[in-house]
Amino acid sequence: MEIIDGKALAKKIRSELKEEVEELKKQDVHPKLAVIMVGDDKASAVYVRNKSKACNEIGIEYEEFLRDSSITQERLINLIKGLNEREDIHGILLQSPIPDGLDIREAFNTIDYRKDVDGFNPINVGKLSIGEDCFVSCTPYGVVKMLEEYNIPTEGKRAVIVGRSNIVGKPLIQCLLNKNATVTVCHSRTKNIEEITREADILVAALGKPKFITADMVKDGAVVIDVGINRNEEGKLVGDVDFENVSKKASYITPVPGGVGPMTIAMLMYNVVKAAKLLK
Ligand code: NAP
Repeated sequence: MEIIDGKALAKKIRSELKEEVEELKKQDVHPKLAVIMVGDDKASAVYVRNKSKACNEIGIEYEEFLRDSSITQERLINLIKGLNEREDIHGILLQSPIPDGLDIREAFNTIDYRKDVDGFNPINVGKLSIGEDCFVSCTPYGVVKMLEEYNIPTEGKRAVIVGRSNIVGKPLIQCLLNKNATVTVCHSRTKNIEEITREADILVAALGKPKFITADMVKDGAVVIDVGINRNEEGKLVGDVDFENVSKKASYITPVPGGVGPMTIAMLMYNVVKAAKLLK
């Protein structure tokens, strides 16, 4: 069994991006990310801080737009439209969640698809589904990058994804399909889920339930990717997979923390650099 080291891989990607950004700066292209955060969600504040740290490390410029939860939908949309117009900004990210009463879908739809580094705009979602070059949502992109870097074949393999959210499960279906896997997706209404997960050569858990995937749900030699980030009773970060027992059966497995999480931020940085190159 091999542990997929997302932390080390993300570090390598960040260091390659740093060199690329230095080259772009010589051509007077200064990649820049704008991050909008509405309200004071504590977890979001941590995510936003991590994104700004990653930008700093790589040399990507960063501007934060913190707005009170009393912001109106109209003002939020106007803020995004203003950022769409700004030539110095290449990537726009709206941190979710945003407070109730605001329409996040309209906000995502307003972000210019060429600056949509989170890949949530329907144009990018549509392009992904027909296999065109686009911005791919960062977490599924990170999962695919891990498989590629570890030379784990996908073609003809049976991939099972547990979770069908718009940000993880659904785009991952498309990513794995584009890589010629045979993809099955499970969700909260799926019956006899363990019979399906046991068929997986590649099993991705993205449901947000601590230790949901137990050893009896996994085929011997399966590749297990744990997207989940949960806190257990002791406040410790745990994934959706019972790592201790599943790792005894898996051929490859990602840990939590240190697996998919760091890859998500690395792929965001990748998307910002890509946007800067496309917009230059
Ligand atoms: P989400 O929007 O809550 O979606 C959860 C999905 O799991 C839904 O499709 C739901 O099915 C399904 N589900 C829930 N309970 C289930 C059950 N008992 N059996 C089968 N399916 C079940 O969550 P998300 O945003 O995709 O996030 C999932 C997890 O990944 C969370 O722990 C989150 O913190 C983590 N995450 C990590 C990263 C990272 O960078 N590593 C990034 C994003 C999210 P229905 O559709 O039927 O409700």
